[in-house]
Amino acid sequence: MATYRLGVMYGDGIGPEVVQAAVEVLTTAAERLGTVKFNWVELPMGLSAIEKYGEAFPDITKKALKNCDGWILGPNDGAAYAKEHQGKRTPSGELRHSYDLYANIRPSKTLPGIRNVVGEADLVIVRENTEGFYTDKNMYVGNGEFMVTPETALSVGVFTKPAIERIAHAAFRFAMERRQHVTIVHKANVIKLGFGLFIKTCREVAEQYPQVKVDDYHVDAFAAQLVRRAGDFDVIVTENMFGDILSDLAAELVGGLGLAYSINASENQAMAQAVHGSAPDIAGKNVANPVGEMLSAVMLIDWLGTRHQDQSLHHLGQLVKTSILKALFDGVRTQDLGGDASTIQFTEAVVQRILRS
Ligand code: NAD
Repeated sequence: MATYRLGVMYGDGIGPEVVQAAVEVLTTAAERLGTVKFNWVELPMGLSAIEKYGEAFPDITKKALKNCDGWILGPNDGAAYAKEHQGKRTPSGELRHSYDLYANIRPSKTLPGIRNVVGEADLVIVRENTEGFYTDKNMYVGNGEFMVTPETALSVGVFTKPAIERIAHAAFRFAMERRQHVTIVHKANVIKLGFGLFIKTCREVAEQYPQVKVDDYHVDAFAAQLVRRAGDFDVIVTENMFGDILSDLAAELVGGLGLAYSINASENQAMAQAVHGSAPDIAGKNVANPVGEMLSAVMLIDWLGTRHQDQSLHHLGQLVKTSILKALFDGVRTQDLGGDASTIQFTEAVVQRILRS
């Protein structure tokens, strides 16, 4: 039986609750199917790591991650870290940057029985994850922000052709497996050089995928179009910050931020990470929606299945996903979706459906 080592970083706020839920449903599915085994490697990250090791992303975690097949990451509450930890990249930023996890893949799909405001939609935001306007990741060393005087701040956006090329290829490869439509989202009418390069490079890459329909929008107009007709879009490729904002919008349009899932990936490494943050307002109350983290973990399992050509992983991912959707469809829902199930009760409902299937 194939065994996979999966690094688990619980993180802050609701992180421990939702990551534990994801681990539980994957473990249950592995035991139920008996075709794969997961070795969970729990690694310190976030506030608990600061307390124990003096750093949010300690060396012990960095070293151990190298020996794992994939990683599951909970959210960081960087805002809650003490001042001396504030200037650094968050663990999530550090992981994306140092492992060059250049593609953040964020699907948004309407689900049966879940209230949404856009009718049917099934889209994927392919977010460039290493540069653009996210200044904590866009420099080789240091940070892309400078305080020139106490009243003058510079925040630098970075656009490079190789980074745009590889994210564009990721988007077009996705589109080839889907409805063969890529939408480039930019702001080239104002940020002429950076987004000029972005759109020109994406269009050059598009020539290698003649079957794929391509269009492009300014980000402001696109935000309106997304609300008006989300169902018309398939794969959206965009810069780091725009991708972050638009994916929260898309998530809310199709049902809610608590459902939104993603992986951060390179060719060789992938990390599951829900779209939401640490939600300090509901942390520790057993009310967080674990679906975003669970579905992120399923995405990771699918990615591993493709990488290792292991059908049993795809099968396992499908079992977990179907069981989550069944629980939601049966009306088991957390408060953010209008239900009254706790995090633990929802997780148990998914576990029961895995065992019964
Ligand atoms: P947030 O996503 O944590 O919360 C926004 C709202 O959505 C809150 O009302 C919260 O209760 C709700 N929410 C989020 N996830 C939920 C879930 N699973 N179930 C139910 N409700 C949920 O965004 P924020 O408040 O802007 O950020 C809080 C902290 O998280 C900040 O420190 C921020 O930097 C950090 N953050 C981290 C990540 C990450 O590590 N991936 C991403 C975004 C924000």
